[in-house]
Amino acid sequence: MQAIYEGKAKRLWTTEDPHTLRMEFKNDATAFNGEKKASFEDKGRLNNAISTLIYQYLEEVGVPTHFVRKIDDTNVEVRKVEILMVEVIVRNVSAGSFSKRTGMPEGKDFSQPIIEFSYKSDELGDPLINDDYIREMGLASVEDMAHLRKSALKVNEILIALFADVGLRLVDFKLEFGRLASDPSKIVLADEISPDGCRLWDLKTGEKMDKDRFRRDLGNVMDAYREVLARLQARISE
Ligand code: ADP
Ligand code: UDP
Repeated sequence: MQAIYEGKAKRLWTTEDPHTLRMEFKNDATAFNGEKKASFEDKGRLNNAISTLIYQYLEEVGVPTHFVRKIDDTNVEVRKVEILMVEVIVRNVSAGSFSKRTGMPEGKDFSQPIIEFSYKSDELGDPLINDDYIREMGLASVEDMAHLRKSALKVNEILIALFADVGLRLVDFKLEFGRLASDPSKIVLADEISPDGCRLWDLKTGEKMDKDRFRRDLGNVMDAYREVLARLQARISE
């Protein structure tokens, strides 16, 4: 089978079925639009395990996703989609680029979630865009955008509760959606949900349990990912 895409953290492989892909999680980590690079032993396995638990859970509670099945430690089978070039970021608590842009310190709970969009372009550094940009750039229709917002808010509600159950505060996260290759009228949640694309803070200690440990050189990056996985496994296999 052929690798059809190699990204910063994953590879995509063809399968016998033209509508199905194998998604491989690598050990590579990048931050600041690829400027900072590292590799962590076990990262691919941990992210695959965490993302698989979350996608299975989302499917169970009625969120349509690309997830088909876990193949092995670092590979999942997914339904092939045409990715919408819009990254959907949901924020529950001020942090990261929100705090940088606004001057509001990190850690303030929002009264309602903030949804933000960025143009998925490594060349341009994923710039912040809004609904009007998306319409005029032809990235998604007005109806598609309404669907993305609704789905992102639903996923947020589900994940806030799931992570709270395991003692984690879901600060913010990034989602990607795509049109099914087998039926382009259907948009599903794609890509991954793992500590690479979420901010997760321990509810008791405030400790960061996500990629900020790498971005900010806090150390013990994989220990944090391992702890997130262990807590989710205990909760989901209950
Ligand atoms: P990046 O492209 O940002 O470096 P990754 O290394 O995570 O990111 O690469 C995975 C790529 O696969 C991403 O570009 C993502 O949009 C894409 N992708 C995720 N799920 C699917 C899917 N089901 N079908 C097709 N492409 C997908
Ligand atoms: N995020 C991501 N990929 C991106 C941009 C952001 O996964 O290309 C995630 C990031 O991990 C965080 C959330 O989206 O959980 C919000 O990120 P932010 O805009 O604060 O940017 P950052 O601090 O990563 O520059």
